[in-house]
Order: sequence, then C-alpha cells, then structure tokens
Amino acid sequence: MVGERSKQAFERAKRVLVGGVNSPVRAFRAVGGTPYFADRGEGPYLYDIDGHRYIDYLMSWGPLIWGHAHPDIVRAIAETAARGTSFGVPTELETEMAEEIVELVPSVEKVRMVSSGTEATMSAIRLARAATGRTAIVKCIGCYHGHADSFLVKAGSGVAALGLPDSPGVPQSVAERTLTVPYNDADAMEKLFADRGDEIAAVILEPVAGNMGCVLPLPGYLEAVREITRRYGSLLIFDEVITGFRVGLGGAQARFGVLPDLTTFGKVIGAGLPVGAYGGRKDLMALVAPEGPVYQAGTLSGNPLAMAAGLTSLRMLKRAATEGAYDRLESYGRRLVEAFCQTASHCGLPATGHAIGGMFGLFFHSGPIVDFETAKACDQALYADFFHEMLAEGVAFAPAQLESGFMSMVHGEAEIEKTIEAMERAIPRIA
Ligand code: PLP
Repeated sequence: MVGERSKQAFERAKRVLVGGVNSPVRAFRAVGGTPYFADRGEGPYLYDIDGHRYIDYLMSWGPLIWGHAHPDIVRAIAETAARGTSFGVPTELETEMAEEIVELVPSVEKVRMVSSGTEATMSAIRLARAATGRTAIVKCIGCYHGHADSFLVKAGSGVAALGLPDSPGVPQSVAERTLTVPYNDADAMEKLFADRGDEIAAVILEPVAGNMGCVLPLPGYLEAVREITRRYGSLLIFDEVITGFRVGLGGAQARFGVLPDLTTFGKVIGAGLPVGAYGGRKDLMALVAPEGPVYQAGTLSGNPLAMAAGLTSLRMLKRAATEGAYDRLESYGRRLVEAFCQTASHCGLPATGHAIGGMFGLFFHSGPIVDFETAKACDQALYADFFHEMLAEGVAFAPAQLESGFMSMVHGEAEIEKTIEAMERAIPRIA
C-alpha cells in the first residue's frame, strides 16, 4: 500500500518534473495509483519513504544483480570517488573493464564504453550502417532498444503503456528506415530480407526479449536470424542490455551458442551506475573513431565510478558462476513462475510464465507467449490488481505486465518462500 509521504512526494515532484518522474514507466500509469518513493535499499529489500519494506524484483530494472548497496560495490565506488570522479583522460579501470567483457562474452573482441544502453544501441547501428553502406535496420515488434529515434518504432512496453504506438517527434524519414517483424518469426524475417535484403544494414534483437515481459526465443530462432543476416551481408546486433551477465555469465550469446557481429550492454555492467557499452569483432570496431571514421564520443564515457562498480560486480559474478549461482537464480525464478501458475489456476485464472537466469515473466494468459501480439493479449488489468495486492504484501514486482522481473544474487530461500506465500494470499483476493 502506497503511503502518505510517497503520495505527497509525488504531488510535489509533479510540479517540477514532467509527470513527476525522470523515466515514464516510473509514474505507474500501467498499473494506476501513485509510485512509492525509494528511501534506501539493502540486499534484496527496498525501503520506501513511508517505511514500508519490499522484497524487490524490480532491481532498478535490471542493473542490480548484486541487490541494493552491496558492501563491496559501495566500497569500490567510495574508494574510487575519493581519488576523483572524472578525469577526461584514460584510466586503467576502463581497460580492466573491457578486458573482463572481452574475456567473458564470446563474440566481443573490442569494446567502447558509453553512459547508457541507448547510447550503446544508437552507436551500434551507426557503426553497422557505416560498415555495410546500407541505411535500413530491422527490429522486432515489441522489442525496446532505448529511446533513440530509430528505435521508437513498435517499441514495446514503455511506449505501449502510454497508449503510444510510436513517438511524435521522430521524423518520418528516420522511422521509415526501421523495418519491423514479429519476434520469433523466422519466416517473416526471411520474407523481409527476400524483399529488401540489400537495404538492410543490421538486425537488432533482444536475444531474450525483456520488454514485452520476459519472452524466450523459440528453438532455432536465433540461429535462423544469424543465418539470414549472414546470407544477405547484414550485421546481427544482439542487444544484451538486459541479458548481458544476467541470463548467464557470457550473456544470451554464450547460453544459446549464437554469435552476433556486435553486442550492446548496459544495466548489469554498471551495477546501478550509468553505463553502457558496445563491442564486437575487431575489424568492425576498428571503424570507430579514433581508429576509424565513425564518430562517437562522451564526456563521461568510461567514468571511473561506474567502471569501479561494474568491475567489482563482474568479478564477483565470475566467482559466483563457478559455484552455480546462475542456476540458483534460474531455479528461484522457476519456483516463482510455478507458484504463480498453480495459485492462479486454483483460483480459475489463466496464467503462464518464463524464467531464464536472473530474469522472469509472470503473465495472466493461458496460451504460449512468443511475441508482442500474444504478450499484449494477457490480462493487464488483472496484473495491475495483482501488482497492488503484492505491494500490500511487501513484494515489489514491475509496475506493468509487459516488463520482466529481476532476481538478484542476494535473493535467498527466505525471500522466495515469503514471495510464494504472499502470492498465495494475494491471488485469491483478485480472482
Ligand atoms: N536495450 C534494452 C534491451 C533495454 O531494456 C533498455 C532499457 O531498458 C535499453 C536498451 C536502453 O537502455 P538505457 O535505459 O540505459 O538507455
């Protein structure tokens, strides 16, 4: 239940911040009501300014794979900050970070650090256009790749939650260079390439979709897209801003064994500080300035605090992975999905879900969910009721049905048990 202080804070915020927030989904339009305002976080828990404690599965929309305020990450940030916050000349931390990414992600040979996922994806398509001399890109309906003009075409949850199919302000001439196909539909991809393959610089794809809920690639889909793009001389960009270091240590590409030409990162590699990165084959990355002519720059790119936080997080993940940590994350996600489906079906409600590594999706829908059409068909009003009842039980899921849930390495048996018990109380109340 959202408290009085959060309500007052939201009213005050709305006077000076657009919609009271700095990113639209935080206004809770998809589920209605007032957002709770964060006071602090600790491990798997978020405390709001009214003193409520929530088991947090939002985890800042993905970056916090080590939960809130992990002592090692906080210490790394503090120690680095004490030595200076930004220099405008290189630091060794940037190289160390790139070395970790190159070691862990199979297709990446060279990296450029940026400050957000959006910067990473927009830079990657600029590079793909330069490399191929073509201008069109392909994205899947319902996938989100950040808010750059080229991506605000059938862009999934954030935009759809506001009832906007696309965004005004994006020039038609830009939007028409973005071609769209349904997710998980290799035939549609094949047909699009047969019609327009020689115009297509790249396909950009979430290898596990995270922005229409968590939707898994069908067996063979990623392989098919890889084969089609190669055959037509287009690049394949995996947008691993969510999946990177989350569905497994080497991201989705290691997990599924399909290697893209370019990869984009964000979220987990910053451990809660503003970071993105793109990387890929050496010959492609050599086109980026100063080695090549494709311009891309940033005052705060490779920021030392962000590098220190991300590096600490990646090194801890490397150690944890050897002890089966990703399997544990996935087993916790599966338990939430199973409990959700069982409890809902006892109450006569349609339910399904997915879990992979540290991400999961809970859907009020009985059929398979494979693309944006099937994801959108779930009962979003029922999800809104579920969300509010779970909040009242002290569990914070994403404030929209078409978003993913995020498990962290510091969620444990106790939190999973409490979440399941909370579902068993909350779902009958909405049935
Ligand atoms: N790509 C994906 C798959 C994302 O989920 C997001 C953000 O949620 C982005 C790109 C954009 O990242 P950022 O919000 O850091 O700009």
